Amino acid sequence: MIIDAHVHLHPTEEVGKMVVEMIKEEYGVDYYSYGTPDDYLNDMKNAGIDKAVMVSFAPDNQLKNNNFWTVAITRSGKNRPAKYPMFIPFISVSPTMNGRTPVEELEHKYNWGMKGLKIHPIAQNFSPDDERMWPVYDWMVKHDLPITAHSGMNIDNKSDLGEPNRWIKVLESFPDLKLILAHLGNGFWDQTVEIADKYPNVMFDTAIAISHIDSPTTLDDEESIDLIKTIGSHRILFGSDYPWVNPGKDIMKIKSLEISIDDKKKILGENAARLFDLK
Ligand SMILES: [Zn+2]
Repeated sequence: MIIDAHVHLHPTEEVGKMVVEMIKEEYGVDYYSYGTPDDYLNDMKNAGIDKAVMVSFAPDNQLKNNNFWTVAITRSGKNRPAKYPMFIPFISVSPTMNGRTPVEELEHKYNWGMKGLKIHPIAQNFSPDDERMWPVYDWMVKHDLPITAHSGMNIDNKSDLGEPNRWIKVLESFPDLKLILAHLGNGFWDQTVEIADKYPNVMFDTAIAISHIDSPTTLDDEESIDLIKTIGSHRILFGSDYPWVNPGKDIMKIKSLEISIDDKKKILGENAARLFDLK
């Protein structure tokens, strides 16, 4: 089973085009697709991906709509099957969001079938150890659901809110929190290893860090293998960061590394299946 643990989807081609073009213009980051659900479905077929985690987040004023869309397309109705049952919906909250409080939003979307939370401390402009987030972490632990958090450098390279060490206070207070640090710490490899060492529950995803693309924070093969061996293959999830990255090519990249077949199976799907309780 192959599971892509890090996918961004856009409701329409127009919205997707706007988002990826805006980021390309502002930061010079190239993209692979506009990222509609049907675009990604096509990639799933071509690359043999069975399930994918939608790590949706948006600015405060669009958060509620974005969350609603995320759960709506993955939920079955009374008399109809879900449109996209292969997607695992993660929603997002922030301490400054409009309307509902973060916990109210979690409760509401839990009833709609959300399976986890995505936060992007840099884009959403708060530190993971901001105590306004404590009720959120408490809620996630009680419901035994995971949080995927952007970690490491962001495209603008300016903020330190993504540094893995920003999670230390949280992990000390919530040792049972199921945390997935995206991008393996994206450039802050020393902090990644330290967190992995101290907090055995923390997981990591490969997005951008172990990839066929060539970003400033992409590891070479030797570094990738070294980091996998240091942290342990049982704690790393394949994630593509689609639509910026072609997931099929990242799978080929992981398959090409000189690690055991067992390690590859864990990274490409087994760890995610266990963590997200998928069959
Ligand atoms: Zn991402």
